[in-house]
Amino acid sequence: MTTFDVVNPATEQVVATIEQAGLAETDAAIARAATTYESWRAVAPADRARLLRAFAAGVDAHVEELARLEVANSGHTISNARWEAGNVRDVLTYYSAAPERLFGRQIPVAGGVDVTFKEPLGVVGVVVPWNFPMPIAGWGFAPALAAGNTVVLKPAELTPLTAIRLGELALEAGLPEGVLTVLPGKGSVVGERFVTHPAVRKVVFTGSTEVGQRVMRGCADQVKRVTLELGGKSANIVFADADLEWAAATAPYGVFDNAGQDCCARSRILVERSAYERFMTLLEPAVRGVRVEDPGLDSAEMGPLISRGQWEAVASYLPDEAPVAFRGQCPDGPGFWFPPTVLAPVSPEDRAVREEIFGPVVVVLPFDDEADAVRIANDTPYGLSGSIWTQNLGRALRVARGVETGNLSVNSHSSVRYATPFGGFKQSGLGRELGPDALDSFTEVKNVFISTEG
Ligand code: NAD
Repeated sequence: MTTFDVVNPATEQVVATIEQAGLAETDAAIARAATTYESWRAVAPADRARLLRAFAAGVDAHVEELARLEVANSGHTISNARWEAGNVRDVLTYYSAAPERLFGRQIPVAGGVDVTFKEPLGVVGVVVPWNFPMPIAGWGFAPALAAGNTVVLKPAELTPLTAIRLGELALEAGLPEGVLTVLPGKGSVVGERFVTHPAVRKVVFTGSTEVGQRVMRGCADQVKRVTLELGGKSANIVFADADLEWAAATAPYGVFDNAGQDCCARSRILVERSAYERFMTLLEPAVRGVRVEDPGLDSAEMGPLISRGQWEAVASYLPDEAPVAFRGQCPDGPGFWFPPTVLAPVSPEDRAVREEIFGPVVVVLPFDDEADAVRIANDTPYGLSGSIWTQNLGRALRVARGVETGNLSVNSHSSVRYATPFGGFKQSGLGRELGPDALDSFTEVKNVFISTEG
């Protein structure tokens, strides 16, 4: 087995050394998950629900431990990390209601009775990125397990610690061995095997668009089901009739949360031209006020980037001649710190305007009217998230319907609620997670006709 040193991005100290699964361990885990599937799907719905609630209670009892682990592994602020652990608990609780409510239909037909069943798929492979290790794991495994599937889950190489702990908590809660297996390892080995192994019936992939495309191509060989949650370049659209103070005060948090390593980051701020100067005047103190500090402090609003490699990738968007309008502060010394940075004026063709930076860098662009705002917002291959700031309700709805993106918020930057669907348009993904419909992604509809004649 190979090992991997997990590094604290705020200190650059090694916090753990993790054994990585190879091909043989992955195949063995998939084989065990396939065997366990036969018994897990047969567990009575109320018992499966009880086990998921016990798992949720176990997570709840360990929120602080999980959150501290995430601070050390990922550099997330402690307040974010507590929310993330709580989100796993809430998603488990939400889907624990599903086993007893996985209804089929009775459809009127001649000569008999026709009923549909929602059957589980089998083994589901979940591939998780490094930016939100806990929530993204939970969004995959909770509905998958509730629907009667077993799960093999691969955390990102850089951030395996909380996923490993969640796997232990599942066992402690009474989930049988093989129901949820966490396999730290390389994407090119473990993740790729989820794609090629015929016993894995579905892959849930969250990560970059490039790797997502590869996963989708690979899954095509077996017509394997796939859900993809990929990149984003979302717009925060601010109209002149908005509460500009509020819009400017919150804009930094809509993009710099998690140091901008958020697929939903509103990394393009579009401002109506007549309000542009005023908005920039208000935005500057808001950006300078973002508290970038030791993520373990309750007061921290932003931590470091995840790795040296990510720091270099983000820095590549800021050559010497970059049009930096203003920047916030960040600590010196060890750690992959990067200050919140605002770029303006920019041209629509600039790399920083077109590409997902995945760091605390935002561009600001003016627009002329509603149609122009929608045109610029849609001028990207992505379509994941976005915000609209206006006090005109009709305009808010018109623009919300016009923007090609999966998750929009009006006068707010929220994207994720466990009870509502989440996912992308265009190259931001395929399928939806969370909410009532996610169960459809983990089941097949079976139709059965029973003759009443003879
Ligand atoms: P990544 O694509 O490099 O890696 C994601 C995961 O895929 C990792 O676990 C990696 O080990 C694995 N992987 C790598 N090669 C693989 C292969 N050939 N087969 C199967 N798995 C493989 O992405 P990342 O850098 O970890 O994450 C950042 C990206 O994730 C960003 O683009 C971000 O926008 C996206 N993201 C999207 C969402 C969403 O919900 N849409 C959420 C979070 C992150």
